[in-house]
Amino acid sequence: TDVSLEGQTAVITGASAGIGEACAAALAHEKVNLILCARREEKIRNLARQLEETYGVSVRPVVLDVRDRKAVKEFASQLSSEGLGIDILVNNAGLARGKDPLQSADMDDWDEMIDTNVKGLLYMTRGIAPLMLESSSAPLIINIGSIAGMQAYEGGGVYCATKAAVGMISDGLRIDTVSSAMRVCNIRPGLAETEFSLVRFHGDNDKAQKVYQDLEPLYAGDIADAVRYVCTRPSHVQISQLTIMPTRQA
Ligand code: NDP
Repeated sequence: TDVSLEGQTAVITGASAGIGEACAAALAHEKVNLILCARREEKIRNLARQLEETYGVSVRPVVLDVRDRKAVKEFASQLSSEGLGIDILVNNAGLARGKDPLQSADMDDWDEMIDTNVKGLLYMTRGIAPLMLESSSAPLIINIGSIAGMQAYEGGGVYCATKAAVGMISDGLRIDTVSSAMRVCNIRPGLAETEFSLVRFHGDNDKAQKVYQDLEPLYAGDIADAVRYVCTRPSHVQISQLTIMPTRQA
């Protein structure tokens, strides 16, 4: 049975679109107060207003670039000085860039992926985990990895490496916090239709439609469902990894 999350507080990164936005709605539905982080201010502001009105929870939009180590540190200090308890952190902000082979790829793309998917996730974890350990009786960190972290594909080596890193960081954190109440989960989705898909198909909507003809992708809400499931387990139950695939993706 589900544990009630009412009155808990969650921080979600990359909450302005796709999976992060859907997670925000799913947790607001469970009466979780939210702190929504992303770079696009208007998007998170509107979402915050809408979720507050619909679910009667408190939602704070915070403009934050997870790659900005100093800004992340200041964000964590701000939360700490407010004495705000944090129960859930969803490290979701992430992106894929470029499709060229490694030997000719654009190194700026590598930097962007590594800085966001790996270093950004580490900065957030380093900033928020201590607060969570201090303030929550059932702290939970959910890292959004990918099936890409388990198998490389053409032109995807660096993205796959960042998602493999998310898996290892999750495992490492689980080990390092094992004597506490902290739970750590790595959720690995397969193909999901989000803004990310536009990048995947390089804005080629026809190509996207062709792929989706044979294969109904996951929707952001499907992954948010999994996040909701992981969050509502009793505090002695740790879902450590969860892979979610579209039915027709092998
Ligand atoms: P979207 O492109 O739809 O959303 C990405 C989100 O990340 C946006 O809210 C964006 O907000 C935010 N973001 C990007 N860079 C930063 C940054 N530097 N600081 C803060 N926020 C940032 O993608 P998805 O929802 O599809 O992706 C979410 C996660 O799921 C990613 O980690 C992705 O790798 C993973 N994933 C996606 C799959 C898919 O098929 N879609 C499959 C498997 C995993 P803003 O631009 O406002 O900052």
